[in-house]
Amino acid sequence: MIWFKPCNPASKKLLAHLPEVVNFFWKDMMKSSCDYKPTPSILRRKTISVSVGGVRIGSRHPIVVQSMTSTDTRNAHQTLKQIKELARAGCELIRVAIPDQTAITALKEIVQKSTLPVIADIHFDYRLALEGMKAGAAGIRINPGNIGGQEKIARIIEMANEKGVCIRIGVNSGSLEKGLQPRSQKEGQAEAMVASALRQIALFEKMKFKNLKISMKSSDVLQTVRAYQLLAKEVDYPFHLGITEAGTMLSGTVKSALGIGLLLYQGIGDTLRVSLTAHPREEIKVAYQILGALGLRKRGIEIISCPTCGRCQIELLPLVQKVEKSVQKYTRPLKVAIMGCVVNGPGEAREADIGIAGGKGLGLLFSKGKLIRKVPEKELVGCLLGEIEKMV
Ligand code: SF4
Repeated sequence: MIWFKPCNPASKKLLAHLPEVVNFFWKDMMKSSCDYKPTPSILRRKTISVSVGGVRIGSRHPIVVQSMTSTDTRNAHQTLKQIKELARAGCELIRVAIPDQTAITALKEIVQKSTLPVIADIHFDYRLALEGMKAGAAGIRINPGNIGGQEKIARIIEMANEKGVCIRIGVNSGSLEKGLQPRSQKEGQAEAMVASALRQIALFEKMKFKNLKISMKSSDVLQTVRAYQLLAKEVDYPFHLGITEAGTMLSGTVKSALGIGLLLYQGIGDTLRVSLTAHPREEIKVAYQILGALGLRKRGIEIISCPTCGRCQIELLPLVQKVEKSVQKYTRPLKVAIMGCVVNGPGEAREADIGIAGGKGLGLLFSKGKLIRKVPEKELVGCLLGEIEKMV
């Protein structure tokens, strides 16, 4: 602790050099304590706020999780059923594909009955965007690279203004406007996406339209990250994050966690969709895992389990799998540790809300840091679920 009297001349001198003094002690502290860890905190990039059917998006609001239905939108019944399931999983905004006029007819029913605000996803035909807004979509997503000329975009802006609809400009590296295609897949791709986004934004701003969010997607993680970093210096619109065509459960999760995670860690990103070649409910789970790992949002049970090794004394994998499956219904954040032995087990189990440390044919059950009792191995799942149920 540094102690000084403010009226003393020496203290006054010290006060004048306070920034350097703090810096000196800070550096010294970092050198002398190898396990010193500053409290992680993420400062969000400042943006304006926009609203999609009442869901606020921007730096003053929690990061919004969204997904896209995988059903045929023309089948309103199936689409509504999936929306309901995704809403239960934590989805807050839903996007549906609008391939043709029949989908517009279904969209009217979907918008009326959906529990979530609906975003219409439009490609190629600007008239579908106009019809989608008339059908009641709370937002539309367009890719200006394939929607046609400026006049068509101007018609969309006029109606969005009239209806109070939020528009996402979704730039995609695979469908950039003519003249903006990068020299190669890698070289200049981020710059080309940014140029496309800025060109479109200028057009919207010329028509005094600011109810915008922006996305720039590429299947290349680093190009995507770079594009958002560059655009973040230029505009204050909220950003929608995602890695497009990320792949299946494993590769898609890794790519998304890296790309989206790198950006979120820098404070960039206000809403996100994890794209996976899997059921969209998995996208929601991964999205919350990413947000939870960064401490940006918590939802549901976080399971901490050890990788097991030669010291493991219980059948850990089936135990973790059973617990994980059974706790998916809970939304309240809770940390549950399931550990294989007494090496790291008791420590982790104590730090979690509920924890198990495996022993020979049994587990030590901890609750809020206290050892509760020894539980025979075959009763561990039931016992753990009972404790979780009590706590949530
Ligand atoms: S907690 Fe025990 S069983 Fe699990 S990895 Fe660590 S040492 Fe191995």
